[in-house]
Amino acid sequence: MTFFIPKNYPTPIAMKTTINIFWFRRDLRLNDNCGLFHALNSDKKILPIFIFDEDILSKLPVDDARVSFIHQELTHIHHQLLEVHSSLSVFHGKPADILKELSEQYTIDTVFTNHDYEPYAIQRDLAIKDFLTSKQIQFKTYKDQVIFERNEIVKKDGTAYKVYTPFSKKWIEAFQFKGLQFFPSEENLEHFIKSEPHPILTLKEIGFTLSSITVKSYKVSTKLIDTYEETRNFPAQDSTSKLGTHLRFGTVSVRKMVDKASKSNNITFLKELIWREFFMQILWHFPHTAKDSFKPKYDRIIWRNNEEEFKAWCKGETGYPLVDAGMRELNQTGFMHNRVRMLVGSFLCKHLLIDWRWGEAYFAEKLHDYEQSSNIGNWQWVAGTGVDASPYFRIFNPTTQIQKFDKDLNYIKKWATDFQELTYPTPIVEHKFARERCLRVYKEAVN
Ligand code: FAD
Repeated sequence: MTFFIPKNYPTPIAMKTTINIFWFRRDLRLNDNCGLFHALNSDKKILPIFIFDEDILSKLPVDDARVSFIHQELTHIHHQLLEVHSSLSVFHGKPADILKELSEQYTIDTVFTNHDYEPYAIQRDLAIKDFLTSKQIQFKTYKDQVIFERNEIVKKDGTAYKVYTPFSKKWIEAFQFKGLQFFPSEENLEHFIKSEPHPILTLKEIGFTLSSITVKSYKVSTKLIDTYEETRNFPAQDSTSKLGTHLRFGTVSVRKMVDKASKSNNITFLKELIWREFFMQILWHFPHTAKDSFKPKYDRIIWRNNEEEFKAWCKGETGYPLVDAGMRELNQTGFMHNRVRMLVGSFLCKHLLIDWRWGEAYFAEKLHDYEQSSNIGNWQWVAGTGVDASPYFRIFNPTTQIQKFDKDLNYIKKWATDFQELTYPTPIVEHKFARERCLRVYKEAVN
């Protein structure tokens, strides 16, 4: 374990007084942060911390763009804190060990943080809660990254919705009834512990290097929201918000985005934000879907799992220009347009009969906006194995998709620049043959 307490920190004076801690996780901002708001309104000074979890980092490449992004956002928070004569303490290690160490250095009354709903995070937080309780330290956590969580939107009988449309209707009803409550944490920054200025851990100190790919900044203008429905399906138009990564790491408040989206006469964009919450509650209610198909009989599918074909798909060398353009956009930028994500996903599972879990894992490695619940939910949707899934006999035709969504070939020309050259690969599989093979294999498994 590399346990690292920054030099010059904590100050000896601060160590003697009782403090509270705010633990930043997927909420990397000082404004409208629910847990932070409650912490800053408590009766103790707040020590702000962030922990680079070595168990998560050890699985990532050293130039992972998401780690660079987190580091950049932590530096930004740190600079904002320096202005109020405080600073962020950044650690690298196992969260339980770091909190144990802090509890030995400080007298801590309460550790504040925001909820995290992923299976790994739930287990981690249960263990941390047990430890803190054994030390008579309170662990207070808050809903911050969604409007509605866990059991808040369920059917009348208390069970989870498995179909999006009724979920979204109930979500909108509840939203209209309850309205939005904001948490202006930014108004109380004086309540952080004062400290000597100190640098935060560098990327190098946690074993990483700066990525050459940067996360796209987001754009959520009134025009984007109003025209979203008519423009969102055309990948060459670059007309979507790029909010995913910012919602994932909490560099933007979901409440502020929902507020904007709900003020438009066209609520298509709001409905996308509801899809995100739909999949979050699905993973929370059905954590086994992280590994297993939601519909068990779909785990009887005999996948071909041809490794050479998988490699060609990953590299964007299938010979189908829209599929290849999408995969190359992903590899080069860490982003792929949703319409193309659906096509490449369907192509992998249905044309190549490769297990959705392989595609899910590849996206998890590459996507900057990777979100476990959305990634699994959408992969199971394209594979036809999940809740409210696309039926298995719906097989996107990778050629007619071009006529529908990229007829001027602008997207293809941008990402699959060689598509008209002699060296461009011939199609990896013939469409009609692949379609019939897929129908046969799926039918055998599920009937
Ligand atoms: P916009 O179109 O501007 O939408 C705004 C926001 O709404 C998104 O940022 C996202 O938070 C939410 N949203 C939109 N569509 C969906 C959806 N279908 N499911 C859940 N939330 C949605 N989205 C992720 O955030 N993380 C993932 O790991 C992810 N993996 C995907 C895998 C596959 C196979 C597919 C088909 C889709 C996946 N999506 C994922 C959903 C969607 O493609 C992205 O959210 C969207 O393309 C991100 O671009 P944007 O931020 O410009 O989105």
